[in-house]
Amino acid sequence: MYYLLILAVGVERVVELIIAKRNARWAFAHGGKAFGHGRYPAMVALHTALLIGCVVEVWALHRPFVPWLGWSMLAVVALSQGLRWWCVTTLGRRWNTLAIVLPQAPLVRRDPYRWLHHPTMSQWWLKGSRCRGAHGVADRSRFHPGQRGAAEDTDPSRERCAGLHMMTYDTELLIAGGGPGGLATALYARRQGLSVIVAEPRETPIDKACGEGLMPGGLAELTSPGVDPVGMPFRGIAYLSEHRRAEAPFRDRLGRGVRRTTLHAAFAARAKEQDTEWIRARVKSVHQDAYGVTAAGVRAKWLVAADGLHSAVRRAVVV
Ligand SMILES: Cc1cc2nc3c(=O)[nH]c(=O)nc-3n(C[C@H](O)[C@H](O)[C@H](O)COP(=O)(O)OP(=O)(O)OC[C@H]3O[C@@H](n4cnc5c(N)ncnc54)[C@H](O)[C@@H]3O)c2cc1C
Repeated sequence: MYYLLILAVGVERVVELIIAKRNARWAFAHGGKAFGHGRYPAMVALHTALLIGCVVEVWALHRPFVPWLGWSMLAVVALSQGLRWWCVTTLGRRWNTLAIVLPQAPLVRRDPYRWLHHPTMSQWWLKGSRCRGAHGVADRSRFHPGQRGAAEDTDPSRERCAGLHMMTYDTELLIAGGGPGGLATALYARRQGLSVIVAEPRETPIDKACGEGLMPGGLAELTSPGVDPVGMPFRGIAYLSEHRRAEAPFRDRLGRGVRRTTLHAAFAARAKEQDTEWIRARVKSVHQDAYGVTAAGVRAKWLVAADGLHSAVRRAVVV
């Protein structure tokens, strides 16, 4: 029975490799870049050796079956397999055993990826360490540390240990703050082909005390990336008191008076049209290393602090 379980896991891994190969062909045809593929043969050897080790240890060392441990670990193996195939079906053609990054592709944030950053890694760890447990082999051996680090979410100190993890990114540009500054940055970055995630704690549309006047220059910068909010045109600015009036007409172009919520809704709609990803999060701390930055659980090449006048991100990076 135990040997059949190991055989079944082995067959399942072969099926995965076939799917991964097919998906890799598709990913490379769509501009995907592979990271850490030099380590891939060693990883395959390690995984194969693990399964062989499960058989050899039980057979050569006459390990007894410990029911409480064996059955509970079998349940964990079954759960982790369920999680694995949930990931495979959620990611579709973007699932792979290789680390392949599709630079333009939006981040997948549905199903298991809503709660876990690296569910595949988590279940690898679970399954790898528990297969042997399914026969009651109770020790504390684990898969390699890089995978374990990746599985345990995004604590910056753990990421330092995971070399591959440091060079795989959720996005190229992370923007803290989804106000006008952050969203304008997002639109211009998308124009340059960068993948973008905006971390904003508040719900759209965001309101704010504001004079609600867009000057001609600002309006031109908005309409250029396709944001064209409804409003009232105006041709200058006038200051009035009881006895005086000071006014300055614009030289050639018009400004526009726009409700702040209308402006934000137009910004947000355009950003989403342009495949900008959003996460509901407040950036509280920032970790920088030689390869990029980690904040709000997102690994990115670059971070833009667009979190307003009293920017917490600016303080966090001591600028
Ligand atoms: C009274 C008043 C009147 C004004 N009138 C005008 C006007 O008529 N015309 C004009 O062009 N400008 C006007 N302004 C200025 C304009 O409001 C600002 O220039 C503009 O809001 C700046 O945009 P922003 O995106 O940089 O910052 P904000 O609009 O402040 O947006 C910052 C965003 O970051 C988010 N955030 C905060 N902390 C974090 C964090 N830690 N992590 C992630 N996200 C975070 C916030 O929720 C917010 O959505 C006015 C300002 C005031 C105060």
